[in-house]
Amino acid sequence: MSRTYGNFIDGEWTDSHSGATFEVTNPAAAGEVVSVHPASSQEDVEAALDAAVAAQDEWASTPGPSRGAVLREAGNNLEARKDEATEVLVREEGKTRSEAGGEVQRAIDIFHYYGAKARDVGGTVKSASAPGKDLYTKHEPLGTVALITPWNYPIAIPVWKLAPALAAGNTAVLKPASEAPGVVSVVLECLDDAGLPAGVANVVTGSGSEVGGPLIESERIDGVSFTGSTAVGTMVAETAAVDLKRVQCEMGGKNPTVVMPSADIEDAAETVGVGAFGTTGQSCTATSRAIVHEDVYDEFVAAVSDYAESLVVGDGLDDPDMGPHVSEDELSSTLEYIDIGSAEGATLEAGGGRLSGDDYDDGHFVEPTVFSGVENDARIAQEEIFGPVLAVVKADSFEDALALANDVDYGLSASIVTQDLSEGKRFVNEVEAGVAKLNEKTTGLELHVPFGGYKDSSTNTYREQGDAGLDFFSSVKTIYENY
Ligand code: NAD
Repeated sequence: MSRTYGNFIDGEWTDSHSGATFEVTNPAAAGEVVSVHPASSQEDVEAALDAAVAAQDEWASTPGPSRGAVLREAGNNLEARKDEATEVLVREEGKTRSEAGGEVQRAIDIFHYYGAKARDVGGTVKSASAPGKDLYTKHEPLGTVALITPWNYPIAIPVWKLAPALAAGNTAVLKPASEAPGVVSVVLECLDDAGLPAGVANVVTGSGSEVGGPLIESERIDGVSFTGSTAVGTMVAETAAVDLKRVQCEMGGKNPTVVMPSADIEDAAETVGVGAFGTTGQSCTATSRAIVHEDVYDEFVAAVSDYAESLVVGDGLDDPDMGPHVSEDELSSTLEYIDIGSAEGATLEAGGGRLSGDDYDDGHFVEPTVFSGVENDARIAQEEIFGPVLAVVKADSFEDALALANDVDYGLSASIVTQDLSEGKRFVNEVEAGVAKLNEKTTGLELHVPFGGYKDSSTNTYREQGDAGLDFFSSVKTIYENY
């Protein structure tokens, strides 16, 4: 059963100006069209910008607590529609029902969090250097912002940009990824039902170049928040910088977990396995390198390979351990990297193939895959694969493991498994990553602390989430008052 969605512009659901559409198919049954969306272009972007700019002054002057009340109510509405949103997400993106349900819950929690935080948007009073003078700061919205999001967290990421943008008093135009845009429509319906004024939040679907391009180039956009690949994000940052827009891009990762001899190896294998194969390896924070001390290397490789082979792969709606890849392209890319790994001389320990037969034939299913004997300069240890492929690299000491962890262009998330507190503390202090964890998987983030990468994982301008989420969407004015 296929559903047809619209753009959401000025409080109305509309077709694209040209009437063109595109289809989204089920990753677990690729012939099945699950939804149809507007294939928009510059005219639709301009219409959304007209609405967002027109709504800006009134929304900016709406008191923070009132803005927050709308966000809280949107969270309540989403909670009431959680099962429906979860199903839309699984049918478009493919992750398991449990993973999708957790992601929808996160979006609900983010609405409630920024619903409360909208009360705190204000500024700071400082002591002035003369009597009869007040010196303070005031946070003002940027204006109208462009939000461009990827397919792998198709509800959490749009909401972790939209909620702080609106809480801070901005209006927004959101362009979701074309692989899984449907669940964003549920979010906009929840905001609309919560009483969000027309034009404050708008959604335009379509291709990156036809919709995202005109958005980031527009002089009417005051800020750009992008999440996606490093290749596209770099281009987005360069384009947005031409007329000095505020810009933040959060991008790819090649995240390591270091395993030291004091670790419980079964536990470490599970920590790495969940990080590597959860969400089919399609998380920016997925564990794609295990850097393992030579004393426990063979034991770890055996344990993590057993873990990989124990996973049940299937249609996300049946809630297996691991769902399919989102698309044929992503599946092909992963299979290509598996070939590259073998050609580079790594040893295939588990998986390594497309799953076939019965229910697998129509979907984009791949086996959870483990390579051992990987050199850290190999392509499978350096390039983001974005699939369930783990490269296990050998280290001969803690110093060696730390150096290997840092010897990569990316710097998003990193973890270590050890019972030696000195090693753990040194690792979190010295690893070059925006998120550093001791005895925890590289995936999984709390919503009330900053999130973002180092090195090529980020523009390193602003963080997302927590207080940092509001900082990006606010300008700070410093006020001197003499009386
Ligand atoms: P992508 O870069 O292909 O696309 C991201 C978004 O940019 C999509 O909406 C796409 O349509 C749009 N886009 C594409 N070309 C554009 C252009 N020329 N101008 C403007 N917009 C354009 O990424 P993806 O495949 O959707 O997502 C996977 C990537 O996202 C991975 O690299 C992953 O690591 C990264 N990611 C990062 C984080 C993070 O917080 N660091 C979180 C999730 C995903």
